[in-house]
Amino acid sequence: MNAHKSLGGVTANIFNLSLEGHNIQKRQPLGKEDEALGAALKPLVFRVDETTPRVVQSVLLERGWDQFDEQQQDVEDWNLYWRASSFRMVEHVNVKPWQRLNHHPGTTTLTRKDCLAKHLAYMRRLYGESLYEFTPRTFIIPNDYTKFVAEYFKEKQVLGTKPSYWICKPAELSRGRGIVIFSDIRDLNFNGTYVVQKYICNPLLVGRYKCDLRIYVCVTGFKPLTIYVYKEGLVRFATEKFDLQNLQDSYAHLTNSSINKSGASYKKIKEVVGQGCKWTLSRFFSYLRNGDVDDLLLWQKIKHMVILTVLAVAPSVPVAYNCFELFGFDILIDENLKPWLLEVNYSPALSLDCSTDVSVKRSLVHDVIELIHLNGLRREDKKCNRASPGSPRNKQLELCTIPASPPYVSLIRFTNRTCSKTNPVVQRVVNVYPKHTRTSQLREMINKQRVFLTREGAKSKPKLRACHTTRKAFSPYTPVAQSQPHRMKGPVGILPEAGYAPDDHVGNFVLIFPFNEATFGASRNGLNVKRIIQELQKLMNK
Ligand code: ADP
Repeated sequence: MNAHKSLGGVTANIFNLSLEGHNIQKRQPLGKEDEALGAALKPLVFRVDETTPRVVQSVLLERGWDQFDEQQQDVEDWNLYWRASSFRMVEHVNVKPWQRLNHHPGTTTLTRKDCLAKHLAYMRRLYGESLYEFTPRTFIIPNDYTKFVAEYFKEKQVLGTKPSYWICKPAELSRGRGIVIFSDIRDLNFNGTYVVQKYICNPLLVGRYKCDLRIYVCVTGFKPLTIYVYKEGLVRFATEKFDLQNLQDSYAHLTNSSINKSGASYKKIKEVVGQGCKWTLSRFFSYLRNGDVDDLLLWQKIKHMVILTVLAVAPSVPVAYNCFELFGFDILIDENLKPWLLEVNYSPALSLDCSTDVSVKRSLVHDVIELIHLNGLRREDKKCNRASPGSPRNKQLELCTIPASPPYVSLIRFTNRTCSKTNPVVQRVVNVYPKHTRTSQLREMINKQRVFLTREGAKSKPKLRACHTTRKAFSPYTPVAQSQPHRMKGPVGILPEAGYAPDDHVGNFVLIFPFNEATFGASRNGLNVKRIIQELQKLMNK
């Protein structure tokens, strides 16, 4: 096969460049190695449907990927399929080793409000109220209607003439649709499945506006459980001042941007908040710091909450590889700085409605792509290394193929290498990228190296609140390792001063689970939730 013929413009150009670089006047016939390199230089291919966010497509094109063309290409000739809706089981079962899907089966148990409530209630029963008291008291209606009525009147008795506040949300809807806030039980109407939740009536206000946080969480695998949290995110504001006297005003009580962007005050310059209805998370944390708030403590609580929430569903999620899930956690902070989990979103909105969206979501998508382990995505690589796709190993549970490179493997690989005595910066860059560099990953790598070197530069500055971002100056958080008493050691062999290795920080993603050797072990051969909870409790008690 002639690489020039088969690979088209991009490859030919790269070949020309390398020939010129070596002062070779005439083209030499291509050898086997050149062919392999040529094949490897074929761009990675992404597949979309009508629900795929535009920003995903534009980021992938920017990174040198090609869009899958059903008419022109073989049905299996793609590497990443990203869409808003879930995949069918058969699609998971048939996924090839060189392919990735952006949804994991079974994750809607986390993102449907009633399912989440059930799972969290179960965990509360098993591990105690206090560990799982980060969600407002929740009743699933109609099933729990009698319990709710009893609770409502019990609270009424305690409060006397003071009103109590509740919020009723359709279990399956999103974007604030169908939500009612009420204080009088006669205003509760339902037709279908809803959750009725204690309304947090003392939210932390900025200016006098209510807000909540959108925290992005990427689970790159449930078995073994591997959770990353994104250090940048969004803070979404209501656009009318918070007022408990007027529960009907959605612009004052709901922080969904889909609602507030059509509010009369959206474009006005609002007290402290300014124009629009969004801040970046980093801006919010720096606002808190200026007000002498311990933002690190708040961030720790949020990370623990994320782990506890994912742990609640992880055992019931079927095994599937070659897929990942990006979640949007909605978290409200009250005036005592306690974070409350409101809900977890499936396919969190990636539309770009304002400049804040652009800065956060474009980087987010870039970093997700970095995170999903591009090594092994090439179809050519898999010819001799093909996992047996298609046939589920365990009919119900094992869904697809062997993971090309589970995160903890690269974690071990990397951390062992960090023990090298050579220049750590150079060494890490070399180690992060495989020797046989290839493909459009060359483009990926150029980005990665830039990002990585920037990060190393930042690390050399003595800063207590490390964990710096690579794309812009931003530093409200402690790295996981710094905040954990137990660092990876022993077989993983991490250097004490190195904290967690680069796979723990991919762009703005920080690995939050596993967070030490014990949890690493407790998540490998089956998920030992009890053991993990013990470790988490130790951490939280520190
Ligand atoms: P949706 O999926 O429709 O967005 P959410 O649960 O995220 O539903 O609720 C929408 C908005 O309502 C939140 O962003 C928040 O502003 C507000 N909200 C939801 N639950 C509560 C609560 N328990 N207490 C206070 N505000 C809440």
